[in-house]
Amino acid sequence: MRRRSPVPDDFPETLFRAVECQSFGKATCFLCGRRLGSRNRTDEHVFPKWLLHRFNLWNAQLGLLNGTDIPYRMLTIPCCNTCNNDHLGALEARIEQAVAEGPDAVRALPTPDVLVWLGKIMYGMLYKEGFLKRHRSRSRSGRIVPRADLESLSMHHYFLQSVRVPMEFQPKFPGSIQVFRVQSPEPAEFQFDYRDDTTALAVSIRLGEVGILAALQDGGAQDGFSEHFDRYRALPLHPLQFLELTAQFLYKSRLQTRVPKFILHDARDRIVVHQMPLGGLSLAPIFQPWDHEVYARILAMHTGLDFERLYHPSGKVMSWLNDGNGNVPAFDLVAQPWPASVQADNIDARTVELPPDEPPAG
Ligand SMILES: [Zn+2]
Repeated sequence: MRRRSPVPDDFPETLFRAVECQSFGKATCFLCGRRLGSRNRTDEHVFPKWLLHRFNLWNAQLGLLNGTDIPYRMLTIPCCNTCNNDHLGALEARIEQAVAEGPDAVRALPTPDVLVWLGKIMYGMLYKEGFLKRHRSRSRSGRIVPRADLESLSMHHYFLQSVRVPMEFQPKFPGSIQVFRVQSPEPAEFQFDYRDDTTALAVSIRLGEVGILAALQDGGAQDGFSEHFDRYRALPLHPLQFLELTAQFLYKSRLQTRVPKFILHDARDRIVVHQMPLGGLSLAPIFQPWDHEVYARILAMHTGLDFERLYHPSGKVMSWLNDGNGNVPAFDLVAQPWPASVQADNIDARTVELPPDEPPAG
């Protein structure tokens, strides 16, 4: 799939500056690596301004890995005005428009748009946390995200460059996306949710009626489960049902045994990224076996419900995605208000204890 970015005058030097000389700091653009001064410096909002306004998050607090909170509006990273206003600004306009139109419009977006947009959020959060101290009260404490962790994301950072330099992905962008229609609770701040697993590079985001699960760099492994996910697209999911899918997707991402490998080729007017076959020469499964107990712990973490309530030693896990006959039950926000019904641990009695509707083994 081909990016639409025009060829910059200084291509490919601009790519090498961004990626090979990757430097971190408040005087460097997080994306292209340009030095920042008073004339070209801007602050890029990790969660874009349109999103913060739409979901009433401007003054809301976001919990960080060090246990402290930061207002969403302060979650900014250094960015040059060209990357911010031209490249990322154009991407934001496309995403904002599609989210306003709903799940079908988001599904119709080019895959790289969605994956790069989510990738910028995940990378941006880690980048910001790279500036912050792990323990704010100790002046010499380590950073929340050690610099080595950011450097290990270098391939991901490389793919983010496709928003500003021409990059062609063969056979396709090496990630997976599943989009669902979700019921939209009131008020607006309950219409937004973001979760990620930075080790597996997997993200879940709920934006009004749009629910997206994305594995940013899995080589398309979870796209192989699209048919399995189709049954959950038949009706608007309750936010709790989307959270259950989130737990399944993020856990499955962790089980992947293969890291995709790439060959990069400079074709003069673009960089061509060839992904090697995911299976390679190995006959071993692409995913480790699914463990119900581990999954139930992840489900408990995401829902805030007790593990003991969700998991039964017989190996069964509570599910809101299966009515006991293999059908997806309809949950109604009026009968089961979100998030009140879950916080009060007063969830619908129709929930059944079953092995979860896990994505099939790879
Ligand atoms: Zn830049």
